[in-house]
Amino acid sequence: MPSCEQQLREQVIRAGRMMYERGWIAANDGNITARLDSERILATPAGVCKGNMLPEDLIVCDNDGNRISGQRERTTEMGMHVAVYQGRPDIQAVVHAHPPVSTGFAVAGRSLNLALMPELVVSLGSVPLADYGLPGTPALSEGMLPYIPKFNAILLANHGAVCYGESVPEAYARMETLEHLARITLVAEMLGGPKVLPRVEVEKLFAARGRYGVHVPNKLEPGSPTVAEEMPDPEEKLQVTRQQLLALIDQALRMRGVV
Ligand SMILES: [Zn+2]
Repeated sequence: MPSCEQQLREQVIRAGRMMYERGWIAANDGNITARLDSERILATPAGVCKGNMLPEDLIVCDNDGNRISGQRERTTEMGMHVAVYQGRPDIQAVVHAHPPVSTGFAVAGRSLNLALMPELVVSLGSVPLADYGLPGTPALSEGMLPYIPKFNAILLANHGAVCYGESVPEAYARMETLEHLARITLVAEMLGGPKVLPRVEVEKLFAARGRYGVHVPNKLEPGSPTVAEEMPDPEEKLQVTRQQLLALIDQALRMRGVV
């Protein structure tokens, strides 16, 4: 086995151990892949705890995700890795996990798209939410397709998260950044709601990416990330008729099962 392949296998095993130790995956969840060369992808197998893998547990697949060597079974989530590699020739590694706070946002049907902190705006921009798709079917990756060209981290509705980069450590680091962002957002919401950065500051951060050596394909667009000027104004006065107001109250009571 060439030493670069050996090194890549060790990087994948280390990332799996760190994901498991941080509680981002339970039991046999999650998967990690890395390009071995232009035609082969190194992948974690199904049915193995990613916190406790040996180099020989990993399998090698072709660019369509079919196993070409290795003893263990291929994961049913291989489709999402293949979709990323096909959509992004610059990407060398993909990490998929179910980190509890990020996944909490995903199962609540919420993206992480607020401009909250400089590091996060620079490194990720924002994190979209892809539609749910059944693992083991093409639907798993269909929801991701619109986002793959523009983002390096995607939440998967009712499932988890996928992050990718130019190396295994970079893809892993993006998952760590995503989970950190989700935790901070959750705490800010518990403390009365986050205060979002204004557009002028977010523009400066996007412009500074080159200086930090960050390669993220997304540009500042309306709602991605959402800037302060795009947030609803809590002081804004809305006019409703008496009838509309009664209908809203009635609807709210029905939703809570009061009437
Ligand atoms: Zn999964």
